Amino acid sequence: MGRLILVVLGKQGAGKGTQGKRLAAAYGVPHVSTGDMLRAAVKAATPVGRDVAAVLEAGELVSDELVNRLVEERFAQPDAAGGALLDGYPRTLAQAEALEAILGDDGVKLCVNLDVPVELVARRLSARRVCADCGAIYRDVDPEAVSGVCSVCGGRVVQRADDQPEAIRQRLEAYERDTAPLLDFYRDRGLLVTVDGARGADEVTATIRAAVDDVAGR
Ligand code: AMP
Repeated sequence: MGRLILVVLGKQGAGKGTQGKRLAAAYGVPHVSTGDMLRAAVKAATPVGRDVAAVLEAGELVSDELVNRLVEERFAQPDAAGGALLDGYPRTLAQAEALEAILGDDGVKLCVNLDVPVELVARRLSARRVCADCGAIYRDVDPEAVSGVCSVCGGRVVQRADDQPEAIRQRLEAYERDTAPLLDFYRDRGLLVTVDGARGADEVTATIRAAVDDVAGR
């Protein structure tokens, strides 16, 4: 068994972040979220961060070249030697093709499509709060969101700038236009498994783990 490369696809708010963190921990691979990497670059005001800040805030996609480079560099780090859980990447056909080129023969083992109706993701996104430091995810009714203090790291719990109504609309449009075609890309390769992401998070995790265990031969 080579590297365990898993891709999680789904609309914004489908649960990619929540499930991605759990699966990465369960299989001992890093959780690679291009959204988290880009937000960290914005926060640190690196040259890349300054370039992409406005794009992120508007809910548009940053260039394929940039994210492909970020991911390629990430795969070169030692903790990704055994695999990775990719959350939010690839997001376009060009990125999916670039990923195949980056990984070579030992490529994506499974692509999990978290299927959630658009009305539910829109509700989840407007109720979502996140830790600005560690990225932990909460709902507006959680004590951490009410107090504004993350129970994982003590950081500040905030609403993402792109979880505002106009940016949510933009992002869901970008999903339909740019990312939905990836479902066929992975289906054609026999790598796609679709999971009902509208159920409770624990049930969703258990279903995905059964599918991953299958391909990972565990
Ligand atoms: P996310 O946290 O995955 O929702 O990503 C937040 C934002 O980062 C997106 O709305 C895009 O602006 C940008 N982004 C993240 N991943 C990608 C990607 N693979 N390709 C292009 N833009 C991305």
